[in-house]
Amino acid sequence: MSVAAPPLFAFDNTFVEELEGLYVPWQGAPAPAPRLLALNVELAAELGADPDALRSPEGLAVLAGSKAPQGAQPVAMAYSGHQFGGLSPRLGDGRALLLGEVLDRAGRRRDLHLKGSGRTPFARGGDGRAAVGPMLREHLVGEAMHALGIPTTRALAVVATGEDVARETLLPGAVLTRVAASHLRVGTFQYAALLRNEALLRRLADYAIARHHPAAAAADNPYISFLEAVVAVQAELVARWMLVGFVHGVMNTDNMTISGETIDYGPCAFMEAYDPATVFSSIDHGGRYAYGQQPAIAQWNLARLAETLLPLIGPDAQAAAAQAMAVLEGFWPIFDAAWLDGMRTKLGLSPDGADDELDGALIADLLELLHTQGVDFTTFFRDAAATLRGDPARDARGLFTDLAAWDGWLARWRECLGAAAGADMSATAEAMDRINPVYIPRNHAVEDALAAATAGDLANYERLLDAVTRPFEERDGLTDLATPGPASDTYITYCGT
Ligand code: AMP
Ligand code: MG
Repeated sequence: MSVAAPPLFAFDNTFVEELEGLYVPWQGAPAPAPRLLALNVELAAELGADPDALRSPEGLAVLAGSKAPQGAQPVAMAYSGHQFGGLSPRLGDGRALLLGEVLDRAGRRRDLHLKGSGRTPFARGGDGRAAVGPMLREHLVGEAMHALGIPTTRALAVVATGEDVARETLLPGAVLTRVAASHLRVGTFQYAALLRNEALLRRLADYAIARHHPAAAAADNPYISFLEAVVAVQAELVARWMLVGFVHGVMNTDNMTISGETIDYGPCAFMEAYDPATVFSSIDHGGRYAYGQQPAIAQWNLARLAETLLPLIGPDAQAAAAQAMAVLEGFWPIFDAAWLDGMRTKLGLSPDGADDELDGALIADLLELLHTQGVDFTTFFRDAAATLRGDPARDARGLFTDLAAWDGWLARWRECLGAAAGADMSATAEAMDRINPVYIPRNHAVEDALAAATAGDLANYERLLDAVTRPFEERDGLTDLATPGPASDTYITYCGT
């Protein structure tokens, strides 16, 4: 007598139970020859899943989307989205499926979601597929962000399907299993609002409050309080992106979560030389989603969320709009404080008794220097710590061409640090090194690793993943991964992957 294997995941599905109208039940497409490319063993453990079971033929069939696991209720989620400013009323999961929810070891509700699992009723002209390179990129960058302490969705696994997908050339196909606090997006609210179904919209908002921002439920006006909470988590999130030079690349409203996690690593990339105009995406001609635009775009997206909530906020449309506007204005103080606080920490400055204006000017002048002299944003902070330590081999001075300007700024910084000449700054330098990464997914390294992985060799990919998941720890033999690519390279990323 054979004993049935325990289920891969202990599903507990609330989205499907509570939000009918916002999804279509659907199945993944068959995958002829699933092969595991990446498995996040740490995340599997968090989810209470057995890594060996996920590696089994049964597990691979599930992770490739061809077999629904026991307890799953796979659906393609419906959502709208402002894409580059223009509204698409009906986007939805064109190549993705929500499998269901799992309560993790810490009691947090997490979505399990497949990307690249075949066409759905939302596929429009798309083939429903995804290629190995972009799915590994999502895994890599998500893990890098997680290691940097930035809220993010994460990949549990990437499985090659054994089938080619047609892009500019034929590429090996893959399915990514994504784990998220939820897949509720600004675009989900836009979809419900466009249906003009206030009962559904209210159910969605109440669901989102209960799942992500429960304190709002007890507020005088729960929906205003909910908006406040989303504004706050997004303002803080985008500040965190800015502090590591992350450029999301496609901040459409369907790619902005209600939970405050980063989602959808498509044409994303990390800025090297500091420049607010940095854009990588091949289709972002106007620089709408440039590095320096991200906070303003986040606020713009939040305004789209606010619009959907107006009927819930109150019966008087004008009064509701005024209340919502006031909340949206609160974005900047939260963002500015998170940014200033973060930059202070990067520079080893204590917030206690500090002068915001003085530190703000010091930071603004630093950024101006980095910009005009084309200094690498990541390297700078590590070398600045080395400067404090008095390590001549790594002195940040070597990054600058206008040495007088650097020396002038350095003197001001040292004064703000309270560093008298000859004072021991090693503790400050160490604190800086604990939060300023050595390793980020640098564009040239990501490109090399993904090209090799697409051709079947995962060694570079695994090496890069190892580096960026221990980003603060400088290690021998990884110098190439801490070095910017040639300045002559214009790095371009692509959507529709
Ligand atoms: P994204 O830019 O990945 O956030 O996707 C935007 C929209 O396009 C979403 O509705 C996706 O589901 C859909 N989409 C992207 N690629 C494909 C594809 N290959 N097949 C079907 N739908 C897709
Ligand atoms: Mg998306």
